[in-house]
Amino acid sequence: MNSSLNLSAQAQIIDGKATANAVLEEVKAEVEQFKAQGIAPCLAVVLVGDDPASHVYVRNKVEKAQYVGIRSLEFRLDADTDQQTLLAQIDALNRDMSVHGILVQLPLPEQINETVVLEFIDPKKDVDGFHSENVGGLSQGRDVLTPCTPTGCIRLLKDTIGENLSGLHAVVVGRSNIVGKPMAALLLKESCTVTVVHSKTKNIQALCQQADIVVAAVGRPRMLNQEYFNPNAVVIDVGINRIQENGKNRLVGDVDFEEVANHVQAISPVPGGVGPMTIAYLMKNTLTAARLQTQQI
Ligand code: NDP
Repeated sequence: MNSSLNLSAQAQIIDGKATANAVLEEVKAEVEQFKAQGIAPCLAVVLVGDDPASHVYVRNKVEKAQYVGIRSLEFRLDADTDQQTLLAQIDALNRDMSVHGILVQLPLPEQINETVVLEFIDPKKDVDGFHSENVGGLSQGRDVLTPCTPTGCIRLLKDTIGENLSGLHAVVVGRSNIVGKPMAALLLKESCTVTVVHSKTKNIQALCQQADIVVAAVGRPRMLNQEYFNPNAVVIDVGINRIQENGKNRLVGDVDFEEVANHVQAISPVPGGVGPMTIAYLMKNTLTAARLQTQQI
């Protein structure tokens, strides 16, 4: 464990905002190196429909790309766009040598099959890491494009614990394709001993109590209380839950932060923990994609 970890009752608060800013500065410097070689890294974002939250997410992604110097292209398609039209758009982006990353904002309208669309993206441009070729590559421990949220969680863990996570017991709560499963695969790649628990698991509490690392990705407000953790646990809370409390809207995680923060080694807050890392790693993935396609740097 990193000697900076606080062994007193107050846990280290893992500052995702600060780490995300550091990642963005790293990306900015790398973008300059690409540009010096005549390559302008480029991310294309495709949005279908009028979902207000998706519009906000896309705007944030485009703004962050601009900040780090990545060229961004936005394609907004009507809510009634058919699958063929979307695939034709992706085909054009797959063929366009100046585009290095393609992100299709989810969810898609119901007339479009999400799996078909995600599988249609060139795996080398798949900055979300959802293509089966990348999912398979990750499960084999190969260096491929990996999903942004769990990849950001690994960075937070390394910044907190140290580069070497080998031998630590990690419990991942949740087994979604977007977070839980890739998180488990990434931890295994780091030589952690990994336990994945889900809605059918018996006695989650006892399993979490044994963990050096707990990653919570459930989508249930404050599900994990103090009883789930041993005092040496490092806790990464991926959950983003909107709740009403005292007549106000609040964002809370899957971990009861107020209760747990005094009883573990380190914990990431919500908001300000994993959230900012996701978008920072989208930028990192765009550069990895550019590297894969240009064999540069
Ligand atoms: P999903 O709903 O796809 O998956 C939730 C997982 O939690 C499932 O595997 C489910 O099990 C499991 N689960 C549900 N209830 C329980 C329970 N009572 N006990 C144990 N396990 C349970 O969610 P996501 O993985 O997409 O997202 C999880 C959370 O992370 C959400 O709050 C989401 O908003 C947030 N998120 C945050 C991101 C960020 O950038 N910070 C990015 C992506 C997600 P089963 O498979 O058996 O149904």
